[in-house]
Amino acid sequence: MATEAYCVRCKTKREMANEKEVEIDAKGGKKRRAMQGACPVCQTKMMRFLPSA
Ligand SMILES: [Zn+2]
Repeated sequence: MATEAYCVRCKTKREMANEKEVEIDAKGGKKRRAMQGACPVCQTKMMRFLPSA
């Protein structure tokens, strides 16, 4: 299941390639889950936060 994220170089939404779930340090010592991947067209890194549970 691919996650859509905005590619700043293509200036459009694309489905991330090689996506993986990561944890990002956020304010207040909390962690936020996010999906990290690459644009399948230009290989620019893409990131999208996941809704917190
Ligand atoms: Zn792109």
